[in-house]
Amino acid sequence: MSGEPDGPQDRLRRFATIWSRAVFPVTSTSSTRTEFEAELLPLARRLSKVLRARSFDAEEARAVGAALVDAHCTDPEALSQTLDCVDAYLVLYCGEGGDPEDLRARSARLQHAMAAGFAGALRARTLAEQEAIAQAALKAQGVVAEALHASEARFRAVFEGAAIGIGIADLDGNILQVNQALMRMFGIADPALGGRRAMEWTHPDDAPQVWRLYQELVRGEREHYHVEKAFYRPDGTVLWTNLTVSLLRDADGTPQYQLALMEDTTERRLLNLRLRYEATHDALTGLPNRSFFFERLEKALNAGPGQRFGLCYLDLDGFKAVNDSLGHAAGDRLLVEVADRLQACATAPGEMVARLGGDEFVALTTGPDTRHEVDELAGRIMNALLSPVSVDGRELTVRGSIGIVEGPAGERSPAEVLRSADITMYRAKSAGGNRFELADPEADARVITRHGLTTALPAALERGEFFIEYQPLVHLGDGSVRGAEALVRWLHPQHGVLGPDRFIPLAEHTGLIVPLGRWVLEQSVLQARLWRERYGEGGAAGPLRINVNLSPCQLTHPGLVQDTVEILERTGVAPDALCLEVTESALIGADDDLLKPLRRLAEMGVDIALDDFGTGYSNLANLRRLPVSVLKLDRSFTQSMQQFPADPVDLKIVEGIVALAHSLDLAVTVEGVETGAQAEQLRILGCDTAQGWYYARPGPPERLHELALVDATG
Ligand code: C2E
Ligand code: MG
Ligand code: MG
Repeated sequence: MSGEPDGPQDRLRRFATIWSRAVFPVTSTSSTRTEFEAELLPLARRLSKVLRARSFDAEEARAVGAALVDAHCTDPEALSQTLDCVDAYLVLYCGEGGDPEDLRARSARLQHAMAAGFAGALRARTLAEQEAIAQAALKAQGVVAEALHASEARFRAVFEGAAIGIGIADLDGNILQVNQALMRMFGIADPALGGRRAMEWTHPDDAPQVWRLYQELVRGEREHYHVEKAFYRPDGTVLWTNLTVSLLRDADGTPQYQLALMEDTTERRLLNLRLRYEATHDALTGLPNRSFFFERLEKALNAGPGQRFGLCYLDLDGFKAVNDSLGHAAGDRLLVEVADRLQACATAPGEMVARLGGDEFVALTTGPDTRHEVDELAGRIMNALLSPVSVDGRELTVRGSIGIVEGPAGERSPAEVLRSADITMYRAKSAGGNRFELADPEADARVITRHGLTTALPAALERGEFFIEYQPLVHLGDGSVRGAEALVRWLHPQHGVLGPDRFIPLAEHTGLIVPLGRWVLEQSVLQARLWRERYGEGGAAGPLRINVNLSPCQLTHPGLVQDTVEILERTGVAPDALCLEVTESALIGADDDLLKPLRRLAEMGVDIALDDFGTGYSNLANLRRLPVSVLKLDRSFTQSMQQFPADPVDLKIVEGIVALAHSLDLAVTVEGVETGAQAEQLRILGCDTAQGWYYARPGPPERLHELALVDATG
């Protein structure tokens, strides 16, 4: 079987194969394709290192670009193919384990540096070639007149065969002769250029020194000059060239002719412009991207005395729910609309808006008085988000949390500023979102960074730093404990106990959620067996059941069904003692493939609960399609029942949902019950089970024993 997963070396080799296939047809190498691939492999290895290195090594990327020229990839098409290939495959094959957003930004910078290295090497090579031709011409200069009449075979051969354009003119600028390559560049069929004058070839982009150098040359004051120059072709299009002009003297040293050697750089120039744009702008929204923003921030922070900067770091609230429930296309449209609105907020000189990735944006303002300006900027941004965004005929409410950092230039590095902004944004988010907060250096110092947590996660699982608390699920009819929800926590060696909201998203991002989720499932099922052993199978309320949360990534993981079956069998716990909780947003819009594993589990008797119901944008009619048997009403419904009397509209909504759920044979559990009044209200509305601080906070498994015991005896 070749089912072994590929190692990094295999993937690197595959990247080199794809690369060589794309480029080989446009090279002028004499190697075979396989030999050529072997030449590319070390280059691929170097690219892969640049991609993953801690800090970006532009020099190395440039060197790889230059090495391409040495490998006979001198055609602009070879560069273009290379960049396409790097863009599409490098991160895929060589980016293992990195943050996708960072890798993509890194790949864009890498491409840009490669292109620059390629262009530089090509220019050097052309100059060398031009130099050789000029040398040949100079050697022949005593016989230049004859050369023009085809008597100097060596010069003639160079002249006709050269890949670069060559033209000869007299000192008045009358063009005497041009070669085939030059005619091709200008798109002309016959050498009728003869008779035209060099002076007519002006172009608005000519640098001022171009014609000064020309005059010096024809006056005999300089031997040659080198410029980048544009020409109009007869059809009106523009030709960019690297132009070298040399003076040819006769045997007595009297200036006689001028010799122009030109290399067509039009395509490379366009490619460079495109690359510069692509390397600095976000493809989806067209906003400046992370690396462009860093450049600008760096400039602002180096601006000198008296200058300040103000930064708003915006993260949309609840964007993930939109993406999960309406799909990525809708999420993308939302981001584009938000980007447009943000751009309109920062139009003054010294202001800019950029997208850092995902749903994170920044707005920057610079100048002497940013203290006041940054507040206004944040206000404008909050205002811009007020009106809903219409996507696919739905009106989506957009909210955002903003972290503001303001200060004098010259004190902090871009990374420090961004870190502080990120922490402050999180503070705004934890305070409920839809607000802005100002950075506070003392708070910054206390904060645990996402990055720090992310890197500590894998070892934490190995070291057994996770533990599970259980929160009872109580029957609203008779108040008996029916089961418990398993809620994972992390006992961090420095930061103490961290709740799942702190680390589950990070674990999802890095893939650690799969082993972590499996561990939670196993521990919880073992716990359920312990409860069963203690209370037997047949209490008044039946055996205690266990609810375990599943992340969206676990749903798509191929081992889900098998792992679950294996754990249940090994522990001897019946499937109907287990309920898996899946958030609403992960299931809405799910296709049959995604639902298949859940359906299989449901058929075995495992209950599936739709968690946090009411927070996504779900379509109630859709519920019928899903293999769920329990609805867990989100805490927000319960919260709105806190005041007395509760809002009658809210009550009606809950009543409606309960009726619908029951008509679909779904049980209803409510979350976040904090008072007896709420519990009573929810019971009247027909909810089946409840969970919340009113009954018990999540706690160690022994606590549940006590509760259930009280329940059974009292
Ligand atoms: P959830 O599944 O909706 O869990 C309920 C959350 O509400 C828990 O927060 C619980 O402590 C909290 N809660 C319970 N009663 C009350 C109450 O009366 N009032 C208030 N204000 N809150 C109450 P927790 O433990 O922070 O968990 C947060 C979320 O983390 C969970 O939401 C769940 O989605 C996720 N989670 C927890 N454990 C796991 C796990 O093992 N795997 C995965 N994938 N996700 C988990
Ligand atoms: Mg849950
Ligand atoms: Mg929930």
